[in-house]
Amino acid sequence: MSYDEFITKIESHRLKRLASEPQGFYLESDGEYYNCIICHASITGDTGWWDHNGTKCLSCQNALNIGAIPVSICSDRTSWYATYELVNQFKISPSTISVMVREGKLKSRKIKAVSGPTSFEIFLKQENEILENYARH
Ligand SMILES: [Zn+2]
Repeated sequence: MSYDEFITKIESHRLKRLASEPQGFYLESDGEYYNCIICHASITGDTGWWDHNGTKCLSCQNALNIGAIPVSICSDRTSWYATYELVNQFKISPSTISVMVREGKLKSRKIKAVSGPTSFEIFLKQENEILENYARH
């Protein structure tokens, strides 16, 4: 079986499962690694979740469940920035980003880690029109 056939097989299996488990389910325990579509964390088996919005790590899935981040970001990657994109595209330093968030000039949506200290932050374009004033590099 080729890799493409393997992926197609997994996808059709997942779609079938979704009919009886509409909330989604943990990734298969097949040793296969995937990346979270939001924070790009490497996930496999029960450290990842799949539903019709795609493959997510448990932290991002939890943030979606509690409404900390909108579901629309799963299908529209152009609707938000990650911190590293503000740094790379707008040349705003991480420390300046923190200050701007504290002062309310930037609005961040925090994705709290389910386990461990790391958390991921995103910036919705529609909540951060101030960025339109920044030159892109
Ligand atoms: Zn994630």
